[in-house]
Amino acid sequence: MIRISEPVIGSEEKKAINQVLDSGYLVQGKTVNTFERKFARFIGTKYAVATSSGTTALYLALLALGIGKGDEVITPSFSFISTSSVILFTGAKPIFVDVEKETFNINPNLIEQKITKKTKVILPVHVFGLPANMEKIINIAQKNKLLVIEDACQAHGAKFKNQKVGSFGNAGCFSFYATKNITTGEGGMVTTNNKNIVEKIISLRNHGFSSDKKNVGLGFNFKMTDLAAAIGIEQLKKLRKFNNIRKTNTEFLNQRLKDTKGLVTPSTDVKSKHSYHLYTLRVTRDFPLSRDQLFDYLKQNGIQAGIFYNKPIHKQKIYIDLGYRDNLEATESLSREVISLPIHPKVTKKDLEKIVKVIKNI
Ligand SMILES: *Cc1c(COP(=O)(O)O)cnc(C)c1O
Repeated sequence: MIRISEPVIGSEEKKAINQVLDSGYLVQGKTVNTFERKFARFIGTKYAVATSSGTTALYLALLALGIGKGDEVITPSFSFISTSSVILFTGAKPIFVDVEKETFNINPNLIEQKITKKTKVILPVHVFGLPANMEKIINIAQKNKLLVIEDACQAHGAKFKNQKVGSFGNAGCFSFYATKNITTGEGGMVTTNNKNIVEKIISLRNHGFSSDKKNVGLGFNFKMTDLAAAIGIEQLKKLRKFNNIRKTNTEFLNQRLKDTKGLVTPSTDVKSKHSYHLYTLRVTRDFPLSRDQLFDYLKQNGIQAGIFYNKPIHKQKIYIDLGYRDNLEATESLSREVISLPIHPKVTKKDLEKIVKVIKNI
């Protein structure tokens, strides 16, 4: 089976893990500090703070910015569920804005009409690794005195107009889950230029202890381990190589599939540099099979596709129960049309040729 995602772990990660194991110091310590420093330098922010996951990175970023009951956060519904779950957990309300069908990203032209007196944050997601239009989003935020948190959980190394995502907003959030462009098993990171946000997250992730341990407030345990950080440091060195393979694989599939009737290949926006996290096609009515039939057919032929996202967040039961009745045309039609094909670094030329052949045979 050609899998939709697979982590790439080499001898370097194994050696680094063994060093941590031998050191006898497994919890958050100097290896986490090193990973944070290297990640901040890579993204181009002053600071990076490691957490236990992308979800806890987003949650702590919101808390550190003081978001809570009575606040509204503008975000897309076409994303992984946790982008919005954490907004609800703070007590704030996610306000959904439709996406652009071509980029899958939040439509900046629809943001301002959703701004109210309660709006505090715009939280765009760089879906599938293609940067959202950060120029327009930052402009809208400045004009309306709003904060910006980037969900960059799929966009390690992606750039908008030559600047890395995760460095535009007040905070950027990354995930190192096993399916992402680089992994630590589970893990997350918040990038920021704001020392105050850093101090708040350092406290919130570690039982409320301040960085000098002198004060204790209210906190969680959302720390990253030195074991995870040791993997992360090695993975970060390989990120450019990984993303280049993803790019080559994407270009191959685009080239071979672009003229297939009923399939829309993903847009390659010239303003930005993609991280090529997922290769996502749209299956339209002109294709001989439905999207779900194509998914099953690929599976029967040894190809694991992915469907991200099958159901928009605002259509999930919990949101219906909360009274959400949004009508988001592009989001809803995309969730019926999208299918993702494997492009991760372990996918070989032969695999890609097989994928193309199986689809062309239809
Ligand atoms: C993976 C992901 C998350 C959550 O990251 P975890 O590390 O799995 O908690 C959040 N948002 C998006 C867009 C993601 O892809």
